[in-house]
Amino acid sequence: MTFVITQRCCNDASCVVACPVDCIRPTPGQPDFATTEMLYIDPLTCIDCGACVPACPVNAIYPETELPASLERYRDINANWFEENPLAPVPAIAPAPEPPAGRRGQLKVAIVGAGPAGCYAAEELLAHAGVEVSMIEKLPTPFGLVRAGVAPDHAGTKDVTGAFEAALNRDEFRYYLNVEVDRHITRDELLNHHHAVVYAVGASTDRPLGVPGEDLPGSHSATEFVSWYNGHPGYADRTFDLSGERVVIVGNGNVALDIARILTADPDHLATTDIADHALEALRQSKVREVVLLGRRGPAQAAYTSPEFLALGHLSGVDVVIDVSELTLDDATAALMEAASPSLRLKLTLAHEFAERPSDPNRKRIVFRYLVSPTAITGGEYVNAVELVHNALVEESGVMRAVPTARTESLPASLVLRSIGYQGVPVEGLPFDDQRGVVPNDGGRVTGADDAPLRGLYVTGWVKRGATGVIGSNKADARETVDHLLADFDAGRLEQPTRDRADLTHTLLARQPDLVGRVGWHLIDRAETARGNLAGRPRVKFTAVSDMVAVARAARRPTTSNQPVPEGN
Ligand code: NAP
Repeated sequence: MTFVITQRCCNDASCVVACPVDCIRPTPGQPDFATTEMLYIDPLTCIDCGACVPACPVNAIYPETELPASLERYRDINANWFEENPLAPVPAIAPAPEPPAGRRGQLKVAIVGAGPAGCYAAEELLAHAGVEVSMIEKLPTPFGLVRAGVAPDHAGTKDVTGAFEAALNRDEFRYYLNVEVDRHITRDELLNHHHAVVYAVGASTDRPLGVPGEDLPGSHSATEFVSWYNGHPGYADRTFDLSGERVVIVGNGNVALDIARILTADPDHLATTDIADHALEALRQSKVREVVLLGRRGPAQAAYTSPEFLALGHLSGVDVVIDVSELTLDDATAALMEAASPSLRLKLTLAHEFAERPSDPNRKRIVFRYLVSPTAITGGEYVNAVELVHNALVEESGVMRAVPTARTESLPASLVLRSIGYQGVPVEGLPFDDQRGVVPNDGGRVTGADDAPLRGLYVTGWVKRGATGVIGSNKADARETVDHLLADFDAGRLEQPTRDRADLTHTLLARQPDLVGRVGWHLIDRAETARGNLAGRPRVKFTAVSDMVAVARAARRPTTSNQPVPEGN
């Protein structure tokens, strides 16, 4: 018997550390780790001890005998990976030496952003003795894209927050939620209270498509739609016209697949998730029957990962439709396929399997189109079509790029969602690389114009490396940033803060009386899950900041003076 890693794998590699026989690959530090779609267990070496199961924060690992039917294929997917990458010992990475007792003293770090990147950074920092962490977040709730990005039907992926709890409940950790840097506190003030500031602010905007009609009513970014169905307070008032039969999504990354699933899902199924109430209500009235995803390149270059593509085949009441003629590979891609990875070959195999399946006109459809780009989004007052050009692929320095041909097409649509990747936005006071949408950095140390590190300033997550990778990819990323921060502290390269934590709390409370701390967040969390219990759902989210703050206020002790009293955060 062996254990098997499945679709939900978050790549944070906690299982790798737990495995006593070192049979999970790739490991952090191996070249494939940064780009792998998931991790794999070698069935020939696995000793069936199950140590990896509780270590996995998203419950993605099953004994092979207990695989649900929809995940059966992962037995072969795990095994096949090792046929091409035979298990070999990986040299252990020596842990960073702890400084002599008393050497480190109290290191105080502020983390800006409470998404997974910030949480992994906090966890890495708090694994070391003598470190205090203040986490500043503009929403009254932590967990960023785990709460506002991960699709509601991927509940297991959200379990990753449980892995952060131990660190985030430590006395050395403080939440300052509902607090905005540059509105309630400046970067320099944060540096007065801390040795370093780590920015984990993600990539909060969408890339522009750059075609006429992009801003017509009925053309929206994926960011808007995803934030809306996930109940992000900044997007709760958006409306999307779901009265037409066809929605077109530009792009075929995993975000596009998430949106396609939500648009075609049975609302009764969505009603068992934590989807925002307003979105559930709108989706109950939806007339959408078909969602078309436009890939500008071919099926071998599609941005979705094979686990997410495979899962579409198990949706109830939904067909995945692909025209087999769009799966013919050009000569250069066919040549590259000879050395393709098992996961890329699986992607193509799945596309052919979908193309061969009969489709039922009574079911909803997710249609994959390849080698087409929008040239315009058209309509009068409202979107009614997408103009497309068919592309060919040309090889440039080993990368297959899409170039337009003379063939065009018009595709009627009542709603267009642009899902072509997220992009970082400049952070006040930090240098910014507009091309890559990241803060320039060297392994997480923010660098200035001369490429020299800027003292006390660090980045982690999407604002450091760009909008790529899954949630667990942030763990190795955070470790690199934290290792550099600790090295700088130990070498005396960070300035000693002049103000203490009590001072910070009082300053922030004076400027933001609606500051939410740990107790306040736990009250919001409890209230949401209690609302969920009543409705048979994991939680019913608050979608207005004022409602969250009202619940969190109960965390404040009554006081006889006018001074706000810090809650026990
Ligand atoms: P993504 O994976 O980068 O995909 C972007 C898509 O947009 C690609 O198909 C890209 O095509 C296309 N595109 C870019 N510019 C375009 C243009 N000008 N015209 C037409 N198409 C264009 O981005 P994402 O889907 O937003 O995902 C972001 C990250 O989050 C990814 O790493 C993803 O795996 C991760 N994520 C994971 C999950 C999950 O594991 N379930 C869920 C959501 C997101 P090209 O490939 O040709 O550039």
